[in-house]
Amino acid sequence: KFNEGLTKSREKLARDLAGVVGGGAIVELDETLEELEEVLIMSDLGVDTVEKIIDDLRDEARAQRLQVKDDIKTGLKASLVRILKGVPSDELALADEKPTIYMVIGANGMGKTTTIGKLATRLRRQEKRVLVAACDTFRAAAVDQLEEWVKRADADIAVPQPQQKSPSGVLYSAMERAFAEDYDYIIIDTSGRLHTNLNLMGELQKMVRVVQKFRKEGPDETLLVVDASIGRNAVAQAKTWKKDVGVSGLAVTKLDGTARAGFVVSCVDELKIPVKLVGVGEQIDDLRDFDPELFVEGLVG
Ligand code: GDP
Repeated sequence: KFNEGLTKSREKLARDLAGVVGGGAIVELDETLEELEEVLIMSDLGVDTVEKIIDDLRDEARAQRLQVKDDIKTGLKASLVRILKGVPSDELALADEKPTIYMVIGANGMGKTTTIGKLATRLRRQEKRVLVAACDTFRAAAVDQLEEWVKRADADIAVPQPQQKSPSGVLYSAMERAFAEDYDYIIIDTSGRLHTNLNLMGELQKMVRVVQKFRKEGPDETLLVVDASIGRNAVAQAKTWKKDVGVSGLAVTKLDGTARAGFVVSCVDELKIPVKLVGVGEQIDDLRDFDPELFVEGLVG
């Protein structure tokens, strides 16, 4: 499913690459690399990342390891894997003492609710006790939707009480409950009004401080949910979130529906943030750990 999820990106890239790297001897290396550069940029990789890849390939050529055009494809894949592995991507962090705390952030519509539902399901299947804190006090519908996913996951949820208007207030009660009732995990949903909204960033910073009252290191993971279909725009967005709130890992959703997955490589390269989770569909099981080799295989073919 991981590879299937990348079908659209692969079809596009493979089609574009075929003209550049399909079969035969390399006649004019510089020309071929220039064509490749263009194809990669059109596939939502950023200019800096593409330059790195082209430099890698030029080194390969100097070392006489590029003879035929197929070698370029092999070299390209190796270079992409190297970039992705440049930022160590361990599994999701685990706290030394219960509960492990995950905060999930990202703009509305990116797939936050769905990702939390999928993650809670996965943890429940490992027989962990999971509390989801519904801290989006700005959208009642968001709480309802989250509640549905949490029910399906067979996890527990802390919802805003009638007198609770602030996300931090809801979070405080939920944290108290997670510690008092010995939960293994607390997953914190947050509001995702536009990421440029100063109030939102202030609110999220306040939430981090609430977490720090219970554990001074703060959340074990702050996962930024990004929608793959926005392609390179996601990189700019992620930069803002990283600066304002801090991000320990990316959860990339909707990889199945886009031809723009190339941005993932630039996101990792430019932001030095690992991808921790990947969404490859709308169902509860459609969540994967990130695997650089499989990803590149899925992307380039
Ligand atoms: P939120 O506003 O960030 O909480 O976003 P939601 O979780 O409500 O998701 C928005 C839409 O994206 C919903 O229609 C989801 O079904 C869809 N979605 C989320 N993740 C994925 C995914 O990995 N693949 C696909 N195809 N759709 C997804």
